[in-house]
Amino acid sequence: MSNKYADIIVDISHEKVDRPFQYRIPDRLLERIAPGVRVHVPFGKGNKDMIGYVVDISDKTDYPVDKIKEITCLDEKGTTVESDLIQTAYWMKRHYGSTMITALKTVLPVKQKLKQLEKKKVTRYCDEETIVKYLEECTRKHQTAKARVLEALLKEEVLPYELLRQKLNIATATLQSLEKQGIIKIEAENYYRNPVKQITERDSAKPLSEKQRFIMEDIVQDYRKGKRGTYLVHGITGSGKTEVYLGIIEQMIAMGKQAIVLIPEIALTYQTLLRFYKRFGDRVSVMNSTLSMGEKYDQMERARNGQLDVIIGPRSALFTPFPQLGVIIIDEEHENSYKSESMPKYHARETAMQIASCKGASVVLGSATPSLEAYYRAKKGEYKLYELKERLTGGQLPQVYTVDLREELKEGNRSIFSRKLKELIATRLQTGEQTMLFLNRRGYAGFVSCRACGHVMKCPHCDVSLSEHRNGKLICHYCGHEEHKPEKCPSCGSKYLLGFKAGTEQIEAAVHKEFPQARVLRMDADSTKTKDSYEKILSAFADGQADILVGTQMIVKGHDFPNVTLVGILAADLSLNQNDYRAGERTFQLLTQAAGRAGRGMKAGEVVIQTYQPEHYSIVHAANQDYESFYEEEIMYRELLSYPPAAHMLAILVVSKMEEEGSGLLTQFVTQIRQTFGEEKELYMIGPTQASVSKINDMYRHVLYLKHSDYEKLVQIKDILEEYSRKQELKNQTVQFDFEPMNVY
Ligand code: ADP
Ligand code: ZN
Ligand code: ZN
Repeated sequence: MSNKYADIIVDISHEKVDRPFQYRIPDRLLERIAPGVRVHVPFGKGNKDMIGYVVDISDKTDYPVDKIKEITCLDEKGTTVESDLIQTAYWMKRHYGSTMITALKTVLPVKQKLKQLEKKKVTRYCDEETIVKYLEECTRKHQTAKARVLEALLKEEVLPYELLRQKLNIATATLQSLEKQGIIKIEAENYYRNPVKQITERDSAKPLSEKQRFIMEDIVQDYRKGKRGTYLVHGITGSGKTEVYLGIIEQMIAMGKQAIVLIPEIALTYQTLLRFYKRFGDRVSVMNSTLSMGEKYDQMERARNGQLDVIIGPRSALFTPFPQLGVIIIDEEHENSYKSESMPKYHARETAMQIASCKGASVVLGSATPSLEAYYRAKKGEYKLYELKERLTGGQLPQVYTVDLREELKEGNRSIFSRKLKELIATRLQTGEQTMLFLNRRGYAGFVSCRACGHVMKCPHCDVSLSEHRNGKLICHYCGHEEHKPEKCPSCGSKYLLGFKAGTEQIEAAVHKEFPQARVLRMDADSTKTKDSYEKILSAFADGQADILVGTQMIVKGHDFPNVTLVGILAADLSLNQNDYRAGERTFQLLTQAAGRAGRGMKAGEVVIQTYQPEHYSIVHAANQDYESFYEEEIMYRELLSYPPAAHMLAILVVSKMEEEGSGLLTQFVTQIRQTFGEEKELYMIGPTQASVSKINDMYRHVLYLKHSDYEKLVQIKDILEEYSRKQELKNQTVQFDFEPMNVY
C-alpha cells in the first residue's frame, strides 16, 4: 500500500476551495497523479462518487492511516482549463512560497451568485451637424463633461456606457440629460454580449512599418513553426509597439487562438482601450479593479466558453481560463505593479512564462525602459530582442537641460525652481502651452523635525516619520494615525518645529506665489483618494482647465497631453537616496518616462531636470535618453554585488507582536540554514536585522536576506524554513517569503 496522499478539492469554483480532502493514492495510480489531474473519489458519509481535482501531494497524513479513503480512478475526461490553473498555483506555491490554498485563491475565480447585470451602450441619436452645433454651445458654456461626450460621439457613433463613465468620467446625470435632449440614446444589452458589439466602424490594421512588420512576422512565424519563445520589444513610447501587439493578436485569432494582454491599470486609458475595441469588436473584454467578484467570474466564464478572444487587464488577467491560449503580451513590463504585494508574491513576467509553457503559448514583453531582468535575459539570448527607435507620430524627442541645484544655491537662488525652469514656465504661460511639474518623492515623507535638537516627529505605532499636511495635521501614511502638530518640540521645547518643505502641496503653493496668474492642478495620493478623482484631474488638465499640473509619479504614466511642451523634474535624486538596490533603475525609469511626457504633440518639448547629483549615471543617461549606457553601468553594479538579475535573492520577513519573537525566529532560521547549507560558498546571508520600517501598526518587522546564483537553492531553503515553521506551530509570528524583492524591507 502506498504512503502517498493527495489533497483533493471536489468543488473547484466554490468557497469550499479552502477545504481540500485527503485521499490515499493507490499504487496503480502513483505514476499518473499530479496537481491538476481529475479523479473520482468516494465522498461524504454515503461515499457518493464525485469528481475532484488533485491540488497537492504529500507523504504524510493527519488522519488515522486505516480510516483514510482511496482515490477510485482517473476521470476519463483527463485535464481541463482548471487543471492548468491548478498546475500554475502549484508552481507558484513552490516557486514563491505560500500555502496551496492561498495560491489557489489567487488563480481561481470564485463563483458568486450574481444578478444578471445589464450592460448599456450609448448611441448617437441625431445627425453630425446637430452634434457639432451643440458641441460649440457646450464649449462656450464650459460644460466640459457634455463636450467630452459629444467629441467622443463625433468619432464613434456607438460607445460602451462603461467606457464613457469610467474613462471619460461622465456622470450618469450628464448622460441622462443628453438623452432627454434627444442627442443620444442609452440602450441596454444582454450582459453576455459585449458592450461594443455594434460599433459600426471597425478599424482595420494600419499598414505596419517595415520594422513593425518584421517583428510581428518573426514572432508569428516562430509560432506557426511550433516554436514558443519569449520576445522583448524595446521601443520608446509612440514607436508603434501597441500596433505590433494588435497585429500579433489578429494573427493568433485567425489561427483560432486567444490572447491575454497585460497593461498596468494606470495606463489603461480610454484611447488605448478604444483601439482594442475597434480592432476586435465584441471579442475583447477588459478586466479592472472596478469589477465586482461576480462580474469577474462572469467574464472568466465567457473566456472559458469561447466567447472571447482577447482579455486586457492588470496582473490578475493572467489567470483567464482560455481554452487555446496563443500569446501573453505584457506591456510596460518594467512596471512594479506586476509584482504581487501579497502572498504568493509572484511576478507576472515569470508567471506568464510558466503559464505559456503549460499551455503552449508565446510571451511578448514590451517597454521603453525594460527591467534589468528582461534586458539581461535578452542579452543572454533567452529572449529574442527587438528595437523600435523612432516615434511614429512625428514629435521629436525633447530637449533636456540638467540643472545643478548646488550651483543655484551658490548663486543665491533659494527657490524650489531653478532660474532655467522659471524662465521656461514663464514662456509657456505666455504662449498658452502647458507645463507638468514632477516631484520624485518615492520613499520620501514630508517629515517634521526640530531645528534646534533634530527631533523627528514619528508615528507612535509605526517606525516612520509623520507627514505634515496643510491643515496642520500630522499623518502616518502607513496606518493612518493622525495628530495635531504640537506647538513646541516634545523633546526640547523649542518652537522651531518645522516641516521639511518639498511636498506637492508646497510646490503648488510656490507656483501660486511665483506665477499668481497660473491655473494649477495638483495630483498625489491625497488628492486622488476617491475612486474617480484620478481620471477627473487628468481630464481637466487635458481639457486645458489648468496651465500647470503638479504631481508625483502618478502623472508620468498613461494619458497623452499634446499641449504639454515643458516638463520640470524638481528633485530628480530624491529617489536615489534610498538604501535599495533598485533605486538607480527606478530613478532612470521615472526620469525617462517623465521626460517623455514633453512634446507628444506637434510642438517640440523641453525638459528641465533639477538635481543635486548631476553626475549620477541614472541622471546622466536619462537626460540623454540612453537606455543602453544606463543598462551597462547598472548591470555592472548588480554583478559586483550579486544582486538580481546577476544573482537571485530571497527576503524573509517576520512580523511579530513582541520584538524578540521576530529576531529570535530569524536566528533559528539562520541555524537551520547553516545546518543544511553551511558548506555552500555561493550563499550570502545578510542579517537578520530590523526592517528599515521596523514597526507597522504595532507589529515588529525583522528581515533576513539570502543571495545565491541558483534560484533552486533558495527554493530549497524556503521549503526547509516553511517545514520548520509548520512544526513550530507559530502563533505570534508570521513569515513571508519574497523572491527577487522589488523593495528592501
Ligand atoms: P507605443 O505602443 O510604442 O506607444 P503605438 O502603437 O501606440 O506606440 O503607436 C503610436 C502612434 O503611432 C499611435 O497613434 C499609432 O496609431 C500610430 N502608429 C503605430 N503604427 C503605425 C503605422 N504603422 N502607421 C501609422 N501610424 C502608426
Ligand atoms: Zn502609523
Ligand atoms: Zn527639539
